[in-house]
Amino acid sequence: MSKKTKKHWGGFSLKPRREVPEGLWMRCPACEHMLYKSAVEQNMNICPGCSHHFRIEAATRIKYLADEGSFQEVLSDLATDDPLSFRFRGTTYKQRLKDDEKKCGAKEAMLIGKAFIKGRGVILGVMEPNFLMGSMGFVVGEKLCAAVDKAMEGNLPLVVVSCSGGARMHEGVVSLGQMAKTSAALAKYDEAGGLFISVLADPTTGGVTASFAMLGDCIIAEPGALIGFAGRRTIAETIKVELPEDFQTAEFMLEHGFVDMIVHRKELRSEIARLIDYCKK
Ligand SMILES: [Zn+2]
Repeated sequence: MSKKTKKHWGGFSLKPRREVPEGLWMRCPACEHMLYKSAVEQNMNICPGCSHHFRIEAATRIKYLADEGSFQEVLSDLATDDPLSFRFRGTTYKQRLKDDEKKCGAKEAMLIGKAFIKGRGVILGVMEPNFLMGSMGFVVGEKLCAAVDKAMEGNLPLVVVSCSGGARMHEGVVSLGQMAKTSAALAKYDEAGGLFISVLADPTTGGVTASFAMLGDCIIAEPGALIGFAGRRTIAETIKVELPEDFQTAEFMLEHGFVDMIVHRKELRSEIARLIDYCKK
Protein backbone atom coordinates (compact mmCIF):
# COMPACT_ATOMS: atom_id res chain seq x y z
CA MET A 1 0.00 0.00 0.00
CA SER A 2 1.45 3.34 -0.98
CA LYS A 3 1.68 6.14 1.56
CA LYS A 4 -1.02 8.13 -0.24
CA THR A 5 -3.61 5.37 -0.20
CA LYS A 6 -2.89 4.31 3.38
CA LYS A 7 -6.21 3.65 5.08
CA HIS A 8 -7.20 5.44 8.22
CA TRP A 9 -10.08 4.59 10.50
CA GLY A 10 -11.35 6.90 13.23
CA GLY A 11 -8.12 8.83 13.13
CA PHE A 12 -5.99 5.73 13.74
CA SER A 13 -3.58 4.45 11.16
CA LEU A 14 -4.07 0.82 10.17
CA LYS A 15 -0.35 0.55 9.71
CA PRO A 16 0.99 -2.14 12.02
CA ARG A 17 2.23 -0.65 15.29
CA ARG A 18 5.90 -0.04 15.55
CA GLU A 19 7.35 -2.90 17.55
CA VAL A 20 8.83 -2.10 20.97
CA PRO A 21 12.49 -3.06 20.66
CA GLU A 22 12.97 -6.35 22.42
CA GLY A 23 14.68 -6.28 25.78
CA LEU A 24 14.09 -2.57 26.47
CA TRP A 25 10.99 -3.04 28.60
CA MET A 26 10.01 -5.42 31.36
CA ARG A 27 6.88 -6.03 33.39
CA CYS A 28 6.96 -5.83 37.17
CA PRO A 29 5.40 -9.08 38.48
CA ALA A 30 4.15 -7.28 41.61
CA CYS A 31 2.49 -4.08 40.32
CA GLU A 32 2.30 -5.23 36.67
CA HIS A 33 3.57 -1.91 35.34
CA MET A 34 5.68 -1.86 32.22
CA LEU A 35 9.11 -0.60 33.24
CA TYR A 36 12.02 0.75 31.27
CA LYS A 37 14.70 -1.86 31.86
CA SER A 38 17.64 0.49 32.20
CA ALA A 39 15.69 2.59 34.74
CA VAL A 40 15.18 -0.57 36.82
CA GLU A 41 18.86 -1.48 36.52
CA GLN A 42 19.90 2.00 37.61
CA ASN A 43 17.60 1.55 40.60
CA MET A 44 19.48 -1.54 41.86
CA ASN A 45 16.99 -3.79 40.08
CA ILE A 46 14.13 -2.55 42.22
CA CYS A 47 10.78 -1.52 40.70
CA PRO A 48 10.63 2.31 40.94
CA GLY A 49 6.87 2.08 41.39
CA CYS A 50 6.29 -0.56 44.07
CA SER A 51 9.81 -1.43 45.34
CA HIS A 52 9.60 -5.02 44.13
CA HIS A 53 13.11 -6.48 44.41
CA PHE A 54 14.01 -8.33 41.21
CA ARG A 55 16.29 -11.35 41.31
CA ILE A 56 19.89 -10.50 40.49
CA GLU A 57 22.84 -12.58 39.43
CA ALA A 58 25.81 -13.08 41.76
CA ALA A 59 28.11 -10.60 39.98
CA THR A 60 25.55 -7.80 40.27
CA ARG A 61 24.94 -8.65 43.92
CA ILE A 62 28.66 -8.38 44.63
CA LYS A 63 28.78 -5.04 42.81
CA TYR A 64 25.95 -3.71 45.00
CA LEU A 65 27.32 -5.10 48.25
CA ALA A 66 31.12 -4.94 48.21
CA ASP A 67 33.30 -1.85 48.01
CA GLU A 68 34.26 -1.25 44.41
CA GLY A 69 36.88 -3.72 43.15
CA SER A 70 37.42 -5.22 46.61
CA PHE A 71 36.01 -8.71 45.99
CA GLN A 72 38.79 -11.25 45.56
CA GLU A 73 37.29 -14.56 44.57
CA VAL A 74 38.79 -17.84 45.73
CA LEU A 75 38.14 -21.40 44.56
CA SER A 76 36.56 -20.10 41.36
CA ASP A 77 37.64 -23.22 39.46
CA LEU A 78 36.09 -25.69 41.85
CA ALA A 79 33.69 -27.66 39.66
CA THR A 80 31.42 -30.55 40.43
CA ASP A 81 31.70 -34.13 39.33
CA ASP A 82 28.65 -36.09 38.32
CA PRO A 83 28.58 -38.62 41.17
CA LEU A 84 25.35 -40.35 40.08
CA SER A 85 25.75 -40.13 36.27
CA PHE A 86 22.41 -38.37 36.50
CA ARG A 87 20.06 -38.15 33.51
CA PHE A 88 16.82 -36.19 33.44
CA ARG A 89 14.29 -34.77 30.97
CA GLY A 90 16.19 -36.09 27.96
CA THR A 91 19.51 -34.57 28.97
CA THR A 92 22.36 -35.23 31.37
CA TYR A 93 23.51 -33.40 34.46
CA LYS A 94 26.92 -32.88 32.85
CA GLN A 95 25.29 -31.17 29.86
CA ARG A 96 23.18 -28.95 32.11
CA LEU A 97 26.32 -27.89 34.00
CA LYS A 98 27.96 -26.91 30.71
CA ASP A 99 24.86 -25.05 29.51
CA ASP A 100 24.48 -23.09 32.74
CA GLU A 101 28.16 -22.20 32.86
CA LYS A 102 27.83 -20.78 29.36
CA LYS A 103 24.61 -18.96 30.27
CA CYS A 104 25.82 -17.21 33.42
CA GLY A 105 29.61 -17.37 33.25
CA ALA A 106 29.86 -19.00 36.68
CA LYS A 107 31.19 -22.50 37.24
CA GLU A 108 28.94 -23.11 40.20
CA ALA A 109 25.99 -21.73 42.15
CA MET A 110 28.13 -19.94 44.75
CA LEU A 111 30.98 -17.45 44.61
CA ILE A 112 33.14 -16.89 47.69
CA GLY A 113 35.96 -14.50 48.44
CA LYS A 114 37.36 -11.77 50.59
CA ALA A 115 35.78 -8.34 50.28
CA PHE A 116 35.24 -5.04 52.02
CA ILE A 117 31.82 -3.68 52.90
CA LYS A 118 32.06 0.03 53.70
CA GLY A 119 35.67 -0.55 54.68
CA ARG A 120 34.98 -3.56 56.92
CA GLY A 121 36.83 -6.72 55.87
CA VAL A 122 34.54 -9.74 55.42
CA ILE A 123 34.41 -13.16 53.83
CA LEU A 124 31.57 -12.92 51.35
CA GLY A 125 29.59 -15.77 49.79
CA VAL A 126 26.97 -15.07 47.14
CA MET A 127 24.72 -17.59 45.46
CA GLU A 128 24.11 -17.53 41.70
CA PRO A 129 20.39 -18.13 41.02
CA ASN A 130 20.96 -18.71 37.31
CA PHE A 131 23.20 -21.71 37.84
CA LEU A 132 20.95 -24.76 38.33
CA MET A 133 18.52 -22.54 40.23
CA GLY A 134 21.17 -21.65 42.79
CA SER A 135 20.98 -25.19 44.14
CA MET A 136 23.44 -26.63 46.63
CA GLY A 137 25.46 -29.58 45.40
CA PHE A 138 28.83 -30.81 46.57
CA VAL A 139 30.73 -27.70 45.41
CA VAL A 140 28.38 -25.14 46.98
CA GLY A 141 28.68 -26.99 50.30
CA GLU A 142 32.48 -27.15 50.01
CA LYS A 143 32.71 -23.47 49.14
CA LEU A 144 30.51 -22.52 52.09
CA CYS A 145 32.74 -24.58 54.41
CA ALA A 146 35.87 -23.01 52.88
CA ALA A 147 34.36 -19.56 53.46
CA VAL A 148 33.75 -20.46 57.11
CA ASP A 149 37.38 -21.66 57.44
CA LYS A 150 38.68 -18.44 55.92
CA ALA A 151 36.51 -16.33 58.20
CA MET A 152 37.87 -18.27 61.20
CA GLU A 153 41.50 -17.98 60.07
CA GLY A 154 41.23 -14.26 59.45
CA ASN A 155 38.93 -13.55 62.41
CA LEU A 156 36.54 -11.94 59.95
CA PRO A 157 32.74 -11.75 59.79
CA LEU A 158 31.06 -14.06 57.30
CA VAL A 159 28.33 -12.65 55.06
CA VAL A 160 26.41 -15.05 52.83
CA VAL A 161 23.63 -14.06 50.44
CA SER A 162 21.39 -17.06 49.76
CA CYS A 163 19.29 -17.27 46.63
CA SER A 164 18.49 -20.87 46.03
CA GLY A 165 16.08 -23.55 44.91
CA GLY A 166 17.45 -25.85 47.65
CA ALA A 167 19.54 -29.02 47.61
CA ARG A 168 20.52 -30.28 44.14
CA MET A 169 18.60 -33.42 43.29
CA HIS A 170 21.12 -34.31 40.55
CA GLU A 171 23.66 -35.15 43.26
CA GLY A 172 21.27 -36.99 45.56
CA VAL A 173 22.65 -37.84 48.96
CA VAL A 174 25.98 -36.13 48.18
CA SER A 175 24.07 -32.87 48.08
CA LEU A 176 21.98 -33.64 51.17
CA GLY A 177 25.17 -34.47 53.08
CA GLN A 178 26.29 -30.87 52.58
CA MET A 179 23.37 -29.69 54.70
CA ALA A 180 24.95 -31.42 57.70
CA LYS A 181 28.51 -30.45 56.78
CA THR A 182 27.76 -26.72 56.37
CA SER A 183 25.74 -26.70 59.61
CA ALA A 184 28.61 -28.37 61.49
CA ALA A 185 31.14 -25.89 60.06
CA LEU A 186 28.98 -22.97 61.18
CA ALA A 187 28.57 -24.47 64.66
CA LYS A 188 32.38 -24.51 65.01
CA TYR A 189 32.59 -20.94 63.76
CA ASP A 190 29.97 -19.94 66.30
CA GLU A 191 31.89 -21.62 69.13
CA ALA A 192 34.97 -19.71 68.03
CA GLY A 193 33.02 -16.47 68.41
CA GLY A 194 32.52 -15.77 64.69
CA LEU A 195 29.83 -13.45 63.36
CA PHE A 196 27.67 -14.88 60.58
CA ILE A 197 25.29 -12.52 58.80
CA SER A 198 22.90 -14.45 56.58
CA VAL A 199 21.04 -12.53 53.89
CA LEU A 200 18.02 -14.23 52.34
CA ALA A 201 17.16 -13.12 48.83
CA ASP A 202 14.26 -14.27 46.70
CA PRO A 203 14.01 -17.29 46.71
CA THR A 204 15.64 -19.10 49.62
CA THR A 205 14.13 -22.56 49.78
CA GLY A 206 14.60 -26.28 50.44
CA GLY A 207 17.88 -27.67 51.74
CA VAL A 208 19.54 -24.25 51.85
CA THR A 209 16.82 -22.89 54.14
CA ALA A 210 17.05 -26.11 56.15
CA SER A 211 20.79 -25.65 56.69
CA PHE A 212 23.18 -22.69 56.54
CA ALA A 213 20.78 -19.92 55.46
CA MET A 214 18.83 -20.04 58.73
CA LEU A 215 21.89 -20.36 60.98
CA GLY A 216 22.94 -16.72 60.90
CA ASP A 217 23.63 -14.81 64.10
CA CYS A 218 21.61 -12.21 62.29
CA ILE A 219 19.20 -13.18 59.52
CA ILE A 220 18.31 -10.41 57.11
CA ALA A 221 15.73 -10.84 54.34
CA GLU A 222 15.07 -8.71 51.30
CA PRO A 223 11.49 -7.37 51.09
CA GLY A 224 9.01 -9.80 49.60
CA ALA A 225 11.52 -12.66 49.33
CA LEU A 226 10.11 -16.18 49.17
CA ILE A 227 11.56 -18.11 52.10
CA GLY A 228 10.53 -21.65 52.90
CA PHE A 229 11.37 -25.32 52.93
CA ALA A 230 8.69 -27.27 51.03
CA GLY A 231 6.51 -25.60 48.41
CA ARG A 232 3.26 -23.91 49.35
CA ARG A 233 1.05 -26.40 47.47
CA THR A 234 2.81 -29.42 48.99
CA ILE A 235 2.23 -28.06 52.48
CA ALA A 236 -1.42 -27.14 51.84
CA GLU A 237 -2.18 -30.57 50.40
CA THR A 238 -0.33 -32.42 53.16
CA ILE A 239 -1.76 -30.69 56.20
CA LYS A 240 -5.11 -29.83 54.55
CA VAL A 241 -5.32 -26.21 55.62
CA GLU A 242 -5.76 -23.00 53.74
CA LEU A 243 -2.53 -21.04 53.99
CA PRO A 244 -2.46 -17.26 54.43
CA GLU A 245 -1.85 -15.13 51.36
CA ASP A 246 1.56 -13.93 52.57
CA PHE A 247 2.71 -17.42 53.66
CA GLN A 248 6.49 -17.92 53.14
CA THR A 249 7.18 -14.25 52.42
CA ALA A 250 9.97 -12.38 54.20
CA GLU A 251 7.30 -10.35 56.02
CA PHE A 252 5.51 -13.51 57.25
CA MET A 253 8.86 -14.93 58.40
CA LEU A 254 9.68 -11.75 60.32
CA GLU A 255 6.31 -11.82 62.05
CA HIS A 256 6.88 -15.45 63.07
CA GLY A 257 10.42 -14.96 64.33
CA PHE A 258 12.39 -16.77 61.62
CA VAL A 259 13.98 -13.60 60.32
CA ASP A 260 15.52 -10.78 62.36
CA MET A 261 15.00 -7.90 59.98
CA ILE A 262 13.89 -6.97 56.50
CA VAL A 263 16.28 -4.62 54.78
CA HIS A 264 15.76 -2.76 51.51
CA ARG A 265 18.48 -3.53 48.97
CA LYS A 266 19.64 0.08 49.00
CA GLU A 267 20.22 -0.09 52.78
CA LEU A 268 21.90 -3.49 52.85
CA ARG A 269 25.53 -2.31 52.78
CA SER A 270 24.97 0.20 55.57
CA GLU A 271 23.02 -2.27 57.68
CA ILE A 272 25.70 -4.99 57.40
CA ALA A 273 28.42 -2.46 58.29
CA ARG A 274 26.34 -1.31 61.27
CA LEU A 275 25.90 -4.91 62.49
CA ILE A 276 29.63 -5.61 62.18
CA ASP A 277 30.40 -2.51 64.24
CA TYR A 278 27.70 -3.35 66.77
CA CYS A 279 29.18 -6.84 67.27
CA LYS A 280 32.68 -5.31 67.44
CA LYS A 281 33.99 -7.60 64.73
ZN1 LIG B 1 6.34 -2.84 40.63
